[in-house]
Amino acid sequence: MTSRDILEMLAATGGGPVYAEARTVADRFFGRGVYVRGVVEFSNHCRKNCHYCGLRVANTGLERFRLEPEGILAAAALARELGAGTVVLQSGEDLRYDRRVIGDLVRRIRDTLDVAVTLSLGDFDRDTYAYWRDCGADRYLLKMETFDEALHARLRPGCTVADRLARVEMLQSLGYETGSGIIVGLPGMTDAILAEDIHRLSQLGLEMIAAGPFIPHPSTPLAAPVDHAIEKSLLVTAVLRLLNPGANIPATSALDALAADGRTRGLDAGANVVMPSVTPDAVRGGYSIYPGKNAAGRDVRDAVHGLFERLRNAGYTPVADKGFSRIAGACG
Ligand code: SAM
Ligand code: SF4
Repeated sequence: MTSRDILEMLAATGGGPVYAEARTVADRFFGRGVYVRGVVEFSNHCRKNCHYCGLRVANTGLERFRLEPEGILAAAALARELGAGTVVLQSGEDLRYDRRVIGDLVRRIRDTLDVAVTLSLGDFDRDTYAYWRDCGADRYLLKMETFDEALHARLRPGCTVADRLARVEMLQSLGYETGSGIIVGLPGMTDAILAEDIHRLSQLGLEMIAAGPFIPHPSTPLAAPVDHAIEKSLLVTAVLRLLNPGANIPATSALDALAADGRTRGLDAGANVVMPSVTPDAVRGGYSIYPGKNAAGRDVRDAVHGLFERLRNAGYTPVADKGFSRIAGACG
């Protein structure tokens, strides 16, 4: 499919038939099973200033937290206990954690829990990525956010498409199962840009592809309300499934911030992964990338059990498998 074909699909009204086709493809590769990845958000400190994100360094109103290694390990163990086959360690770009600290965490999680480990820590150099891979990290998630040069430079100050893409390719060359993705509906993102983003993402041979909706955060330059077109995100999910049949595609938590049944609708549109937060209750409200992320006060166990119940009611089965992708050549 060319970006022009993709653009035509995005313009089509009513995604129903596309969702059904995408779900048929997902069923063929993954059945009705849904891989569960437990996300430990261990620091909301960030040196970057992405215009869309509540963790940006310029957001001085945010109370910052860091978890100690023992707290991170406890959250990882809880993820396993609750039925996750993968632990995702995610944070802002926080240089306070020495690369050896992260490597040691990866090793200890791999040694003590029967899980795969995904890192989502942002932009680092090749040596650091290689070191974490040697420590046992299975996957890395680094979203392009958008491939449009002008939009990327505007929304990620000091960063370029070429630099981010070089890092994604670096991760691939180091043998990580590599994930990337985009934010759907960023201010300034036209359908033509979105179609090109989908096209370029689909050419990378990624094992994971994430495309969640943009949700404005009031303490960022992009605070203005947007038309919350959940349908657009679902359509993008479906098109990505058709173009990347064996890739792992999450029904993003951001979908749930837009609609109570957002994630199950994402599965209906061809997604096969959920990524619940298992960050400790005391700090998880502070990982406020966007409003509605990690509702404070909700017990982690209750939140995960509630999600599983919704999945089952919608005809899906949460599975504790490590959940490697089904693209040709991927490990597992
Ligand atoms: N700091 C790392 C990085 O940027 O790659 C990982 C953590 S970052 C919070 C994870 C993802 O959050 C980003 O890749 C971005 O796509 C998403 N994100 C940030 N702000 C968002 C917003 N307002 N709406 C939707 N997604 C957002
Ligand atoms: Fe930092 Fe990631 Fe948020 Fe950008 S998206 S401000 S790098 S946490």
